Amino acid sequence: MVDMVNMADDAGDPEATEAYHLPDEGWDCAACGAAWPCEVTRTDLVRDLGGTPAAIDKVMRGYLLDALTVRPDLPSRELADRHLSWIGVSGSP
Ligand SMILES: [Zn+2]
Repeated sequence: MVDMVNMADDAGDPEATEAYHLPDEGWDCAACGAAWPCEVTRTDLVRDLGGTPAAIDKVMRGYLLDALTVRPDLPSRELADRHLSWIGVSGSP
């Protein structure tokens, strides 16, 4: 899967390092404070993955697993909805 943390840490590529909004320890966006994935993250993913729902879905399922670990207090259905429900909906050209 795409590792956005490593991409964000790599200062060599201006395309990839453009201020990714990453989840904080509470799984809110560390950059804008919105519930993660925030709108900026969604837009970035759609752009970087070419708007391919299958690719985005794969990445977001990886993050969903992380989210379930980080926020076991939140309903898994809600987390799944948050991570997966927007794919193929927003960011269409
Ligand atoms: Zn954000």
